Amino acid sequence: MRRRNFLKNASLLTAGSVLAANNHISAATTSVFKSNAKKSFGLQTWSLGNELAPDVPGGLKKVAQMGYSYLELAGYNDGKIGAVPMAEFKKMADDVGLAIVSTHVNPPMRGYDKDNFEQAKEFWKKAADQHAAIEVPYIIQPGQPTTRSIEEVAFVGEVFNEAGKIAKAAGLQFAFHNHDGEFRRVVAGGTEMLPLTRGRAPEGAKMVFDAMVEYTDPSLVQFELDVYWAVMGLQDPVALMRKYPDRIRLLHIKDAAVLGETGLMNFQKIFETAYENKIDKFFVEYEANIPGLSRFEAVKLCAEYLTNASFVR
Ligand code: MG
Repeated sequence: MRRRNFLKNASLLTAGSVLAANNHISAATTSVFKSNAKKSFGLQTWSLGNELAPDVPGGLKKVAQMGYSYLELAGYNDGKIGAVPMAEFKKMADDVGLAIVSTHVNPPMRGYDKDNFEQAKEFWKKAADQHAAIEVPYIIQPGQPTTRSIEEVAFVGEVFNEAGKIAKAAGLQFAFHNHDGEFRRVVAGGTEMLPLTRGRAPEGAKMVFDAMVEYTDPSLVQFELDVYWAVMGLQDPVALMRKYPDRIRLLHIKDAAVLGETGLMNFQKIFETAYENKIDKFFVEYEANIPGLSRFEAVKLCAEYLTNASFVR
């Protein structure tokens, strides 16, 4: 029962940690009338690159102090996150008040086919069980499997539905995270994705992302929209959220540099639309390599941007 309920309770748990954090802040302030409502956003730990590994407890403490409330893990490898056993990682996060809400898990195969279907199912079963043991609500495939034709996307849909069932049986929700390639198109019987273009689609062509949504079961598979990669895929993330309000349930908040510094991303509209859609999982992701700026410094600046942005709750 406990495992089956923790998805439902995940939002309550997150709210609980935010309340706990607020109480901590309130105790440190002189006026109880001062508003200290902490904003709610998380960090994809991939953003820290190689800088987290040397001191995970110390690094997570810094992340919490920056204003992040929750994490999405990267680096799952058979019971470990990087070099740290998952139960230990969970304890380190708990100790600094960071909830682990999600995890990015890369399957060992680049593409799915009938020959590796069973191996894929075994992989997702083990990964789901190991994340259920530390009560992580979301398990996410972060990379695009090979999709050269509509038929291959349809098969990926079958595998995702299976992964979704396996995750659900363990008490988790399965989702897929995009890059820009998912906004290329495929045709029936095709041998390659068509080049990314704003132009009119050829007859019968489907955008891979649309086809993934179409070929997956809404009760089993959700989507985590990386808003930056959507823009790189010549898409408007706001339009995608409006098109798929029930399927896009988590966001990667990302820019080509520190959040808000390029002018490329309309974060105000993105957050407004997300709140309209009752999305409440926002993971900052930083992948730029800016000389003289460490990953920790960059994710701190990202947190400051969101903390100071009037449109972020
Ligand atoms: Mg991303």
